[in-house]
Amino acid sequence: MKTIIRLLKLVWPYKKWIALSILLGLVTVGSGIGLMMTSAFIISAAALHPSIAELQVAIVGVRFFGISRGVFRYLERLVSHDTTFRLLSRFRVWFYQKLEPLVPARTLYMKSADLLQRIIGDIQNLENFYVRVIAPPAVAIAVALLMIPLLGMFHFKYVTIFLIFFAIAGTVVPLFSLQLSHGLGKRIVGLQSELNIAIVDNVKGLRELQVFSGTQKQQAKVDALNARINNLQKKMHIIDALNQGFITLLMFAAVVTVLIVAIPAVTQGNLKGVYLAVIVLGIMAAFEAVLPLPTAFQFLESNISAAERLFGIIDSKPMVENLPNALEFTDKNPAIEFDHVVLQYPQSDEPALNGLTLEIPAGAKVAIVGPSGSGKSSIANVLLRLWEFQEGIINLNQRDIRNFTQESIRETIGFVSQRFHLFTGTLAENLRLVNPDLSDEELLHILDIVALEAGDLGKIANEEILPYWIGEHGSMLSGGQAQRLAIAQVLCKNPRVLLFDEITANLDPATERKVMDRLFATFHDRTIINITHRLNIMERYDRIFVLQNGQVVQQGRHAELLQQDGLYRHIFTVQTEQAGIG
Ligand code: ADP
Ligand code: MG
Repeated sequence: MKTIIRLLKLVWPYKKWIALSILLGLVTVGSGIGLMMTSAFIISAAALHPSIAELQVAIVGVRFFGISRGVFRYLERLVSHDTTFRLLSRFRVWFYQKLEPLVPARTLYMKSADLLQRIIGDIQNLENFYVRVIAPPAVAIAVALLMIPLLGMFHFKYVTIFLIFFAIAGTVVPLFSLQLSHGLGKRIVGLQSELNIAIVDNVKGLRELQVFSGTQKQQAKVDALNARINNLQKKMHIIDALNQGFITLLMFAAVVTVLIVAIPAVTQGNLKGVYLAVIVLGIMAAFEAVLPLPTAFQFLESNISAAERLFGIIDSKPMVENLPNALEFTDKNPAIEFDHVVLQYPQSDEPALNGLTLEIPAGAKVAIVGPSGSGKSSIANVLLRLWEFQEGIINLNQRDIRNFTQESIRETIGFVSQRFHLFTGTLAENLRLVNPDLSDEELLHILDIVALEAGDLGKIANEEILPYWIGEHGSMLSGGQAQRLAIAQVLCKNPRVLLFDEITANLDPATERKVMDRLFATFHDRTIINITHRLNIMERYDRIFVLQNGQVVQQGRHAELLQQDGLYRHIFTVQTEQAGIG
């Protein structure tokens, strides 16, 4: 019930459109009833050979209702589809807006195909909520009300008979079919989502599947899911057919009952014979309004489950929220300070940052090194406000980072990690996505900093660099080229602080040196923080922090750290030995 109320609230802004389409639905069925009643009258009356003048009004009626029924049906379809599409786009925008702040801390634990299914499938499912769930019962009730005076003109007992059968067809049949199909809708939605996940997995992992010859097993999984969905849908269709049968049965039962009551009335002279067919056909036409009701009930069920899945996501609170009076961070060059920061991820026992303390002066060039799992990337997570830390404080120019909006912090600190997403398109498109205002010269300058040059991209001329097609998600680029494009993207924002997380893992040593040289030269007055597990060219950093188990265990310049008998020297020795062997 709560879900229904929330759904109704979402469609509330479109109440006028919905009301209009319900009204049009009513006049469509109403025209059908009018058409049947007037034509029944003409046929019955004509049998008595009256003068044409006596039939004149009814003839006009038939013409009018015959035309208006078609026109109103058209208008009703037009309005209801228009409303549906408006609602759909509203749902999508609403869901997206709610989803955005949940990235990445909350969405990390969701499967991307499942999310896709929710964004597309579940929202599409909700489109039925309006056309098939709200509108039909409203139209049915309105038709019932319309029939009261229409049949009441002849006698109230016809009204009673009609209402009884109409009500059974409109409530008992749908409830019965809901009982039969109980859970079916929900299971179909669930299985469809599973199928989507399997297929997306399949496509994404095609190469791996082929290498490990797992295509057949995966194919069998998809087939099995498909078979189950088909089975359930078949059941659904059988139930649908039963519904239609029951409603038709009830319609004829109503007709027969009316005839049983009305024929004696005609013989006794209480009802004119010509009205007999009018009443009967009017009732038959009115049953058109209950035909969509069983489907409405079924859709209600699957709508509720789709809505619950959507609400389930958007109800999760963003991990990091701006304070109500959060400020914009506008300082040009911040000093960054971590003071006993503790970060514990929800599903882990050990804190990733365990009282981490470090200081990065404005404009400093620092490296953060340490073994894998020591908490290096977690530093970026809390600094960029992607995750909330539990204890300690992070200061930017002596002010608590939590005072500032997340957005302004991410404007200030440009972050590149080894995991990134490139969009299908050209080099220039991927850069302008970040900053549409940059001129071609500026873009070329940025590409030059990351050493993405004509020579590097193959035998192409300078003017071919910007329109260079990088393929789907950058598939035409090598790992190192893609990584450098990701760096270039962040440079387009002209951030005051550069934060790199393992960006050189994809680069060969010569390219790494070239790119880092150019970055250091171009941004000599800005803070550069380089998180890396590879100790290459460490001499150039003002300070190196060595991390272990979420704490800084050593810090200093390269030469100083090498003199100490500690983790740094150990890592350095191991790596130089390996390099020697390789
Ligand atoms: P590094 O970058 O130094 O390799 P991380 O900062 O990524 O280390 O991870 C530190 C620790 O936190 C590791 O033990 C890792 O398994 C854990 N961790 C990282 N991210 C998550 C997460 N989202 N949920 C749970 N544990 C995590
Ligand atoms: Mg890492």
